Amino acid sequence: MSDGQPFDIAILGGGPGGYVAALYAGAKGARVALVERDRVGGTCVLVGCIPKVALADSGAAFRLVREGEVYGVKVADAGFDMAKAVARKDKVVDQLVGGIETLLKARKVELIKGDGTFRAPGAIAVKTKDGDREVRAKAVIVATGSFGPLMPPIPGLKEAKPLDNVRAMQLDHVPKRVVVIGAGVIGMEFASFFAEVGAQVTVLELLPSALVQVDPELSRLALRALDKKGVKVITGAKITEVASGVGKKPHQVKAETGGKVEAFEADEILVATGRGPLLDAVKDAGLKASKRGIETDDHMRTNLPGVYAIGDCVGVFQLAHVASRTWRRWKARSRSTTSSAATVAWTTASCRRLCTRIRRSRRSACPRRRPRRSTATR
Ligand SMILES: Cc1cc2nc3c(=O)[nH]c(=O)nc-3n(C[C@H](O)[C@H](O)[C@H](O)COP(=O)(O)OP(=O)(O)OC[C@H]3O[C@@H](n4cnc5c(N)ncnc54)[C@H](O)[C@@H]3O)c2cc1C
Repeated sequence: MSDGQPFDIAILGGGPGGYVAALYAGAKGARVALVERDRVGGTCVLVGCIPKVALADSGAAFRLVREGEVYGVKVADAGFDMAKAVARKDKVVDQLVGGIETLLKARKVELIKGDGTFRAPGAIAVKTKDGDREVRAKAVIVATGSFGPLMPPIPGLKEAKPLDNVRAMQLDHVPKRVVVIGAGVIGMEFASFFAEVGAQVTVLELLPSALVQVDPELSRLALRALDKKGVKVITGAKITEVASGVGKKPHQVKAETGGKVEAFEADEILVATGRGPLLDAVKDAGLKASKRGIETDDHMRTNLPGVYAIGDCVGVFQLAHVASRTWRRWKARSRSTTSSAATVAWTTASCRRLCTRIRRSRRSACPRRRPRRSTATR
């Protein structure tokens, strides 16, 4: 901001938590700075939900072609071109990033590209390509997201250079055999995609069942669908060791399953064993945090005055729609429902409260909602 005035809100991190909050606050007339070191969109748009679905679409198209005979479609020698599928996925991502940037501009959000550090309430220090800058603001929202995968301490795993979600979406070929470590949602989605495009896929899960976060009925249906695609899911599998392949020799993933040790061959190993809160940029600020993430109350307030935290860095449900709508805890009565259903989330609600406070202090900046007409005048 050229006038040297502090922003109303400075947001650290431009993922679904940060950019949605910025758009909302911008629309309400608040002066907003959004600090992002990469392209806007965060994990979800760049290397998560969106590209994953774009690749899954390619996989589904390939399956339709392969099974085309059933529909009366004859396609000889159908093949899957991974590099082309990845290029299409990149185009989808670019389009969405462009869309978000346009929206941010339209809502007069200042997008500050650079590495941000939050040390104390009221300011974010940013290293931009043009030098250091201090972004001052009346309120700060920390939305730095998560990192992953959390690498399990399996001897030999690191040496085998396993795929994470980023590299798995950049391959230029379909691996012949893939071993997926972790039968959570992300692991199973990758398993499904790789099986659909012709890989032989085995999923190894330490817990006694797969997809534990998912509603049991949905999980049963998903497992049945994966089974039809040829995905082998082995639960209660304790991986003891990974021996890296050399040259054309595949990796060997050794696991104890049902009291015996089995070795699974893999051309690629994919690790999908969860993600942790990304707190490097805020570690010296004095924010109260646990292993799961920054601690907040139901209004996303942290222990520091004027400082809020949202999304994966809070770390209870690492989902894009949770990040976009700051959540508050559902009461005990709904604990039995699935995690996403048990989440009521309103980033917008938090932003609304912030805007109201700003409006009260400035009286004019945030446009007021038109008062409802009373029934008497209708
Ligand atoms: C493979 C995969 C598939 C997924 N699929 C789904 C799905 O289908 N549905 C769903 O709901 N969720 C899905 N998720 C989860 C979803 O992506 C996250 O929950 C969501 O992106 C969290 O949003 P966020 O804004 O909290 O964090 P992020 O999206 O991680 O964004 C944080 C942003 O902060 C920036 N940042 C961090 N530190 C700094 C710093 N110091 N300076 C400047 N910028 C910084 C980062 O560059 C990043 O852009 C998936 C995740 C993965 C990995």
